[in-house]
Amino acid sequence: MKGKKSKIDLHLHTTCSDGTFTPSEIINLAKENDLKTIAITDHDTIDGLESGRKKAEELGINFINGIEFSTNFKKKEIHILGYFFDKNNSDLLKKLKDLKNARVIRAKKIIKKLAKYNINITKEDIMKEVHGDLISRTHIAKVLFKKGFVKNTKEAFNRYIGERGIAFVPKLIIDPFEAIDLIKKAGGLSFLAHPKLLSLGERKTLILIDRLCEKGLDGIETFYPSFRDLDKIYYERIANERGLLLSGGSDFHGKNRDHISIGQTYVPEEKVDWIEKKFKEIEDGKN
Ligand code: AMP
Ligand code: MN
Ligand code: MN
Ligand code: MN
Repeated sequence: MKGKKSKIDLHLHTTCSDGTFTPSEIINLAKENDLKTIAITDHDTIDGLESGRKKAEELGINFINGIEFSTNFKKKEIHILGYFFDKNNSDLLKKLKDLKNARVIRAKKIIKKLAKYNINITKEDIMKEVHGDLISRTHIAKVLFKKGFVKNTKEAFNRYIGERGIAFVPKLIIDPFEAIDLIKKAGGLSFLAHPKLLSLGERKTLILIDRLCEKGLDGIETFYPSFRDLDKIYYERIANERGLLLSGGSDFHGKNRDHISIGQTYVPEEKVDWIEKKFKEIEDGKN
């Protein structure tokens, strides 16, 4: 059945990274908004997948294991989405643990740098904001705001923890090729997230896409809130020319991205046969 009931949103963040709704709340919202299929794609963590899946099964929503890896290539931040991977894959789990631990060390470095400017916050302050166990700068920005050091979180990034801020500390980061490899070896599919936001320019973006393809990239996120119709047509063509799959979603972050609602951008069902194919593969594997 087409229409409202067939909405598919493959890009959602929960409290396990920097969203404001728990995995279970996200599934409730998905139900209220008539979504048929969803993927939770938290930044560098799969902590929300277990409770998300459980709730999705209760409410009859198709649930896809997802993740959004933050990666770096030539100093540019590139996000790689992974879908349908085995969340118990040992290499994947080890890498995620390393990335998580590195964030703790980074938070401590940020606290030290801030203290040099008489901005005193503690790890406990930060942990109060963290609902999963992945520390993000979003949480640190909230502490700076709540303690009155900045007028809003934007200022926290501009003055302190953003790339040009005085207390900036980069995070341990993998390159996009490693992310693709990890997803692939865990049996999943990898997609380049929101390519238009890369700010690489057309030529460099295409070079990057071709290099990612050589490493086994499966698709491109083509349906995204800030993409105009022309952008969608463009990226669909780029994908088709390379035999890549299409994906998309709202990049919902709850109250941390107020202007975006769940399912606001969704994937046209007829353009994503790979989803049904994967579900069938999994079903057949079970029987
Ligand atoms: P982290 O993964 O800890 O480096 O934090 C990245 C998160 O910080 C992103 O997902 C954004 O939500 C947020 N962020 C990064 N830069 C800014 C900025 N300039 N203003 C507001 N939020 C930002
Ligand atoms: Mn985010
Ligand atoms: Mn992203
Ligand atoms: Mn995202």
